[in-house]
Amino acid sequence: MKEYLKELYPGSKEEYFNLLQNNLKNKQKRFIITVNPETLMQSEKDSELKKILNNKKYSYVPDSIAVVKAAQKNKIILKERIPGIDIADFLLKEANHQKYSLYLFGAKEEVLEKLITKINKEYPNINILGYNHGYIKDKTKEMTKILNLEPDIVLVALGIPLQEKLIESIFPKVKKGIYIGVGGSFDVLSNSKKRAPKIFIKLNLEWLYRILKEPSRIKRFYQNNIKFLFKINK
Ligand code: UDP
Repeated sequence: MKEYLKELYPGSKEEYFNLLQNNLKNKQKRFIITVNPETLMQSEKDSELKKILNNKKYSYVPDSIAVVKAAQKNKIILKERIPGIDIADFLLKEANHQKYSLYLFGAKEEVLEKLITKINKEYPNINILGYNHGYIKDKTKEMTKILNLEPDIVLVALGIPLQEKLIESIFPKVKKGIYIGVGGSFDVLSNSKKRAPKIFIKLNLEWLYRILKEPSRIKRFYQNNIKFLFKINK
């Protein structure tokens, strides 16, 4: 598991955003994987996800403080955490500035509708090529649709590892665009769920806020984060 820590982007969030800006300008493609304890723990029992992590050509970012600290312990210095939701937020702003095209796939139907309304209001220059909620049956068909539309930015909010697997399934054929699996970000970006207050984020306690708000996450937290700590410290 430690071998994946070496692949994480070591620079600052600002530097990473500059990279994305350049990719978009130059019509290059990039598949971003947000790496957190859940990604790493799930890859232990999911060979397809493991293959995605082993590919090394994709762009791996430290989504959570736990992986930044784990890297540090292994003498790998990462400047900071780059949460998927911040990347999604940045991409929306950049798309608005540069009139880029966007495709959104995932989350509950009403959440997605709220997000589309918000984007139309706050980011009117974004060219929304299409969208679909995450509870449709034929997700592969949706990915083919995305592939053919060639959007500049594709946000897939289906949770790990489904979002990564679906993106990987079309990525070899993708010609341009930033593709990222953003987990529960649509819930927050649409204001359906609140993100942790700034002080929690600053103190690296966003994970604690999520548990306090949704105690049902405790089991998942144990399965992923606590087991990750034991594993990485072995
Ligand atoms: N989701 C979906 N289709 C599914 C399962 C999940 O669209 O079949 C969405 C769900 O509505 C939520 C996101 O995927 O918006 C996963 O969010 P979660 O908070 O679990 O992800 P995290 O941010 O913790 O990775």
